[in-house]
Amino acid sequence: MDTTQHYDLAVVGAGILGLAHAYAAHQRGLRVVVLDRDHHLVGASVRNFGHASITAQEGELLELGRAGRARWLEVAGATGIYAAAAGTLVVARTAAERALVEELHAARGDDEVELLDPAAMAARLAHEEGAPGASHGGAFLPADLRVDPREAAPAIARWLEGQGVEFRWATSVLGLGDGVVRTTRGDLRADRTVVCVGHDIDYLLPDVAAEGAVERCTLAVVTVDAPRGFAAQAGILTSTSMTRYDAFTSQPSAAAVRTEVEGRAPELLEIGANVMMTWRPDGSLVVGDTHEYGPSADPFVSERAIALVLEEAAAVLGVDALRVRDRWQGVYASSPRQPVLVRTPMPDVTVVSVTTGVGMTTSFGLGERTVAAWGA
Ligand SMILES: Cc1cc2nc3c(=O)[nH]c(=O)nc-3n(C[C@H](O)[C@H](O)[C@H](O)COP(=O)(O)OP(=O)(O)OC[C@H]3O[C@@H](n4cnc5c(N)ncnc54)[C@H](O)[C@@H]3O)c2cc1C
Repeated sequence: MDTTQHYDLAVVGAGILGLAHAYAAHQRGLRVVVLDRDHHLVGASVRNFGHASITAQEGELLELGRAGRARWLEVAGATGIYAAAAGTLVVARTAAERALVEELHAARGDDEVELLDPAAMAARLAHEEGAPGASHGGAFLPADLRVDPREAAPAIARWLEGQGVEFRWATSVLGLGDGVVRTTRGDLRADRTVVCVGHDIDYLLPDVAAEGAVERCTLAVVTVDAPRGFAAQAGILTSTSMTRYDAFTSQPSAAAVRTEVEGRAPELLEIGANVMMTWRPDGSLVVGDTHEYGPSADPFVSERAIALVLEEAAAVLGVDALRVRDRWQGVYASSPRQPVLVRTPMPDVTVVSVTTGVGMTTSFGLGERTVAAWGA
């Protein structure tokens, strides 16, 4: 072993969570190395909606989202990446959906939830190709942020490297313990190691994954051409989103919304749809998604599931069809046991994984929390 390769902190995984930990540690003056098995980022951190969906969370996730918001803006300011305090539009198309957003408004207040009447919602979603379907208006959640998922994490990695954080790409970590990080390109020493390998904890630390009941959630997503003249940079959530995020599901009208979706489009619930859209600076819209849970990610993407999601998105935007630019599959860590997994399998090793699909929302809050807990 080359003992000159000694770091205060080794970060395993260069996804957004690893980067958030590297950022928090580097800010405190620690000597940090980030190791990633891939040649560049290809994981969940570049395959998502780029949506910091803060207000739709509850409990620990809401706290982490709120805590991470200022960090996102700080990092965006330093790196020059696109990051917009563009908020989220929650489109209500029925009386029950309207009632649900009103309940959220009553719970959180005007600062977090602005109610929009149908005309105001239609104006926000306006474009030249049709009339958006927002018959009951909805709500605007101003705290939410948007980044470009394809650009943000890679740009943050490049920036951290320029600041003196060392990156080792194409380097798989094989084992950990007693201050030694064993990799496919030799060993190094680190006083602490934080493992941020997303859903792949079972490959490196199978006991931790088993104890935390970590499995894989596989999602199908596409980008489409935004309708001509469409200018909303806010994220767009719809009825199926109201059946998934805790801020909605904890409201009294959530059951009625779910029953309506079951009656109107049961297939959307069968494919685990969360029909949402986010704008990218290249003029496309990310549209998704479906959810399938299991120990391994099924590689096959159902064309029928994509068609259902596109049909629902087109109805919200008020267009006949959406033209697909590209499609892909994403995988993230999921667990019925806890929304965020934090374990210390060895005194110098901390494992952190966001085990529900909100790592873009929570990672900067989590990185700060982990590193602050280590103290001086
Ligand atoms: C389709 C989709 C949409 C989503 N939308 C949103 C959204 O809008 N908002 C939101 O908040 N979240 C969203 N998420 C969730 C979010 O993307 C993830 O929670 C987050 O990116 C996880 O980040 P990570 O750094 O933990 O994992 P990853 O991005 O998966 O990074 C893990 C890294 O670890 C590396 N690695 C693994 N094993 C090893 C090893 N042994 N040695 C070295 N390196 C290793 C991998 O190469 C990888 O680069 C979405 C996810 C998907 C898939």
